Amino acid sequence: MAAVTRLFRSSSSSSSALFYIRRSLSTSAATELKSQTCPPRIDPKGRNVQWVFLGCPGVGKGTYASRLSALLGVPHIATGDLVREELSSSGPLSKQLADIVNQGKLVSDEIIINLLSKRLEVGEAKGESGFILDGFPRTVRQAEILDEVTDIELVVNLKLPENVLLEKCLGRRICGQCGKNFNVASINVKGENGNPDISMAPLLPPSQCASKLITRSDDTETIVRERLRIYNEKSQPVEDFYRGQGKLLEFDLPGGIPESWPKLLEALNLDESDDKQAATA
Ligand SMILES: [Zn+2]
Repeated sequence: MAAVTRLFRSSSSSSSALFYIRRSLSTSAATELKSQTCPPRIDPKGRNVQWVFLGCPGVGKGTYASRLSALLGVPHIATGDLVREELSSSGPLSKQLADIVNQGKLVSDEIIINLLSKRLEVGEAKGESGFILDGFPRTVRQAEILDEVTDIELVVNLKLPENVLLEKCLGRRICGQCGKNFNVASINVKGENGNPDISMAPLLPPSQCASKLITRSDDTETIVRERLRIYNEKSQPVEDFYRGQGKLLEFDLPGGIPESWPKLLEALNLDESDDKQAATA
C-alpha cells in the first residue's frame, strides 16, 4: 500500500526546491521510535506542518527547529523571541511586558498565548503554510490553551542522556572579543539501554579567539544539573499530555548535528529532493 505522500513547496525560498514527506511505517527509523505517532491528517487549507519542539536546555532544540523550518519553508517561532520583539516594539503589550520583566516576574500564559495567536494570524494572512514552535508549551495548561487556538499535528521530543547534556553545557565557551560560541567538549559516552555510543566533536575556536574564551558563569555542574532537574519535572506532564493524544515523537539524538540531522529527517519521513525531482513533480 502506498504511503501517504504530501507535497510542500518552500515558500521562503525562490528556488524550486520541493520537499516531500513520506509516511511509511516500514522505514527503519519508524521502528526506532519508542512511541508511534499517528500519520498526520491532510489539511485542506494546506497548514500541515504545525509542530512543537520539546527538549532540555542544551539539547540543540533551536538548531534543529531552525534547520527544519528552512527546509520546510515554515517559520520557526520561538516564544522567547516573540517576547523580546514585543518588548522592543511599541505594541499594545510592550508596556505591560516591560513592567513584568523589570519586576523579575514570569510572563503569564495569557500574554504568551496572546502574542503567539497574533503571530500565527499574521503568518496565516501572509500565506505561511505552518510553523514550528520552540519553547512552548511549557505546561499542560499552556498545551490546553494552544489546542484551543490551533491544531498541533506533531510534537518532537529531542533527547540526550544527562551526562552528555552536562558535558556539552560544561564545554560551552564564548569568545570575549567577537561573541561567537564554541564548544571545547569532546564527547564520547557509552550508550544507555543498548543504544549506540554517543560521540560529538568539539567546535573549536580559530586561533584569534582561542586565548579570549569565556565560560558562562551559570555553566557549572551544580547549576546545569539543577536546570535539567527543573526542566524534567516541568516537561514530564507536557510530554504525557501529547503522548496521550498520540502526537509525541520521541527522538534520541545519536550525536552531534552531522550524525543527528539525517536520522531526524528519516524519523520525520522527510526527504530533501533535488531540483530534478522538483521539476518533474
Ligand atoms: Zn573571537
